[in-house]
Amino acid sequence: MKKNMRITILGAGESGTGAALLANWLGYAVWVSDKSPIKPAFKSELEAQGIPYEEGQHSLDKILASGEVIKSPGIPEKTEVMQAIRQQGIPVIGEIEFAWRHRPKSSRIVAITGSNGKTTTTGLIQHLLQTAGLPAVMCGNVGLAFARAVLADRLAEAPAKRVYVVEVSSFQLDDIDQFRPNIALLLNITPDHLDRYGYELANYVQSKFRINKNQKRGDVFILNGFDPVLRDYLTQHALAPARKVAIRKGFFKNGLIRIGRSQAFDLTQGQLRGPHNMFNAACSIRTALLLGADAAQIQQGLNSFRPPAHRLELVPTQDGIRWINDSKATNVDAVYYALQAMDQPTVWIVGGQDKGNDYSPLQTLVRKKVKAIVCMGLDNEKIIQAFKKHKKTMVETRSAREAVAAARQLASAGDTVLLSPACASFDLFKNYEDRGAQFREAVLASLQPTNG
Ligand code: ADP
Repeated sequence: MKKNMRITILGAGESGTGAALLANWLGYAVWVSDKSPIKPAFKSELEAQGIPYEEGQHSLDKILASGEVIKSPGIPEKTEVMQAIRQQGIPVIGEIEFAWRHRPKSSRIVAITGSNGKTTTTGLIQHLLQTAGLPAVMCGNVGLAFARAVLADRLAEAPAKRVYVVEVSSFQLDDIDQFRPNIALLLNITPDHLDRYGYELANYVQSKFRINKNQKRGDVFILNGFDPVLRDYLTQHALAPARKVAIRKGFFKNGLIRIGRSQAFDLTQGQLRGPHNMFNAACSIRTALLLGADAAQIQQGLNSFRPPAHRLELVPTQDGIRWINDSKATNVDAVYYALQAMDQPTVWIVGGQDKGNDYSPLQTLVRKKVKAIVCMGLDNEKIIQAFKKHKKTMVETRSAREAVAAARQLASAGDTVLLSPACASFDLFKNYEDRGAQFREAVLASLQPTNG
């Protein structure tokens, strides 16, 4: 890619804006186009650097005159703009690829993907590295764009030998070309986002494995050694030649994680709970050890880690009911782990925007653990049809407040109310954080004694 080349950035969210700022600083002729309104904060950043943009439309003539397009992971291939770009044969990459190309050469990259557990694991790896005194930054699909993190280091006079701990979604992996993590992690694969993959699990699996496609000898690929989808893929496909580390269930049990013959880490002193988090921690510990953290520092990091919000997060109440916010459970597998972790009769709040869900893996758990179902979505029909055979109480609600009121009626002291929706949030909420926050507020408001 030559300097002065015209680059179009499609989509001005966090990643598009990050890519625009980095590309502009590198001296490319950058132009940003977003079909929706651009958030004021991003607009001010573009304006401050004199980066031209348009919003509410895509001017095809200008876009098709670019030498390269950096596309937001949210824009599907089937859109008119992408089809026109493909027809013209203009190279398209994602922000992850662009940031990687321009990273400081002394840096190292840890990339994490999977259907569930990415943010928890990304956060934990960063925390373990930082506790061990290594300069790590968490970026990518969570919070800070990778390109922004790279730009900050390129601007620094004496950049640290940074470890970029990059969360990558399957959509982001679809738009890489040469991106090569020194350590790649593939946590698990369960059906998700199938609406974007022609309803074919194989396409989604292929996307996830792209995290390993450019790895070479000297790199490490940490993967789930007991995930049936991964194992099935590996019987039919060869991997790129990185060292493979398969994390198996035998390595973690009863709150202890064993690495090799002599090392053991204790999870019971920290806040991570549930078998899925034992697995996330096992992956994170391996990564930290590979990057030179010592065992005592890692144990200290495990003890002090605070898991991210909206993932099996307890809402503090003293009403005898355990209210759990698992709003981030936007697919069936995450709900599977949430229900598995339930040890009290559970009122389950579920629903939202369906992503092609198959609810069959949940049936046994629902029969055993759920006492009532509160649907919270614009269209609840699929959920009602899937679970009506259990003959449990089912109610329909259309807001967090209504759902909490219904759950309060249905739950008794000693029960748990679990918001674990299995669906996207966009029918009733801005995003999963908004859904979790509204749930939390509604729970806390429902504790207030009413006047009169
Ligand atoms: P992601 O970033 O991949 O969406 P998160 O760490 O945000 O992952 O967690 C999303 C949901 O998945 C939460 O409900 C969480 O409790 C659950 N979860 C976390 N780790 C795992 C795992 N390894 N396997 C299955 N579910 C998990």
